[in-house]
Amino acid sequence: MKADLVIKNGWVVTPEATARGGVAISGGKFVAIGTDESLPEGRDVIDAGGNHILPGVIDAHVHFRDPGVTHKEDFGTGSTAAVCGGVTTIVDMPNQLPPTENAEQVGVKKKIGETKSLCDFAVLGVVHQTNADDIIPMAKAGAIGYKIFFGETIGNLPFPDDGMCQEVFPNITKSGVPVCVHAENRQIQHYWTNKLKAEGKNDPIYWESSRPWLCEAESVSHLIFLAENFGTMLHIVHASSKQAAQMVKDAKARGLRVTAETCPHYLLRDGDEMAQVGPLLKMNPPVRSREHGEALWHGLLNGYIDMIATDHAPHTFEEKGCDRNGKMIKPAIWECISGFCGVETAVPVMLTEVNKGRMTLNHYVKVASENPARVWQMYPKKGAIRLGSDGDVVIVDMNKEATIDGDKLHSKNTPTPWHGWKVKGMPIYTIVRGHVQAKDGEPVGKVIGQMQTPVAG
Ligand SMILES: [Zn+2]
Repeated sequence: MKADLVIKNGWVVTPEATARGGVAISGGKFVAIGTDESLPEGRDVIDAGGNHILPGVIDAHVHFRDPGVTHKEDFGTGSTAAVCGGVTTIVDMPNQLPPTENAEQVGVKKKIGETKSLCDFAVLGVVHQTNADDIIPMAKAGAIGYKIFFGETIGNLPFPDDGMCQEVFPNITKSGVPVCVHAENRQIQHYWTNKLKAEGKNDPIYWESSRPWLCEAESVSHLIFLAENFGTMLHIVHASSKQAAQMVKDAKARGLRVTAETCPHYLLRDGDEMAQVGPLLKMNPPVRSREHGEALWHGLLNGYIDMIATDHAPHTFEEKGCDRNGKMIKPAIWECISGFCGVETAVPVMLTEVNKGRMTLNHYVKVASENPARVWQMYPKKGAIRLGSDGDVVIVDMNKEATIDGDKLHSKNTPTPWHGWKVKGMPIYTIVRGHVQAKDGEPVGKVIGQMQTPVAG
């Protein structure tokens, strides 16, 4: 019997090995993996041309803004950007309007994804001051986990206070899925923001000073304390500081189920660039000095920072308060919104680092695909080229070079600090459960998105 799709003449990359050959996919699952000669015939055949066949990349942190904030992005445009960038599964954040704060809203998000998404997706429920009783129902409705926003952020959701944490953390633990947290201490950020404003320090370069490393580290410390005492699976999103990385390392060493992600901008950019790139690089938490960036690299290479995610967070240029090149058009950095696009650029940006020898392609597959699937309990359905796993593949040409052009991205709004960044190593095919969804950076597929729920690993 012929397989639905055979990909041959490539190098199959897993965290453990790189092997000549290809894969066969039928009914959306891998049915054969091996040398070209060992593969079955295919109804459709892709000649990988000697390129690398990777498990589909998972971006476990995106804001697709749907429903309610769709002037910024929606599930259609966001998922198009995802597949064009080599991403086959995303985890969507819950801070849109209305927020994903109960079982009904998990269902709303599921329907939106199923009717608009070119890639597979998972949904997080927000946990705040007044929805402790909605926590377990959200997991039952299919939420893959939860999000708490300790830092002040887009949407201004009220976070659970110290008393309420004693109610919500046990419920999260009972639900069997992890909670991820935006870890920034609001008092610290308010104190420094007010002080800098009073001193008339309004230039982009002061952004990092308003949320210093202590702002993140204090919050991470608090969270690890809660997770340890309530036995909760904790994931720190967008870790930006050396101190946060160290605390996650220590927590892991104590046997806690504490994980963390970092983002390409923390690994590769420098807070001082705010002088040139302006509001384009404004993000919560801020990009810091290279000392922090190097510590995060160390964590990523040594297994205590688990994954790369992007915090893809589009806004209009008007909201960003700057033009394509970052020239500030508002009087103060405080008035420019935080967040920028990332889902479409992270794979080429990180493959460029692989080409520079910063990490192996095998390790990249681990931190871009396997680990996000493991942390969010989708492994081995997602994040693996294994028999029976979903046939999600990104074929990458490690020799293809380009310059990132913000105007060519597929998001609804495209502010990005990566405009003009030179890359080597690009996705050429993005395949979701055997369906070719993007080719050479352009969408070619249909709406096929399926919501992912936890699987027994
Ligand atoms: Zn985010």
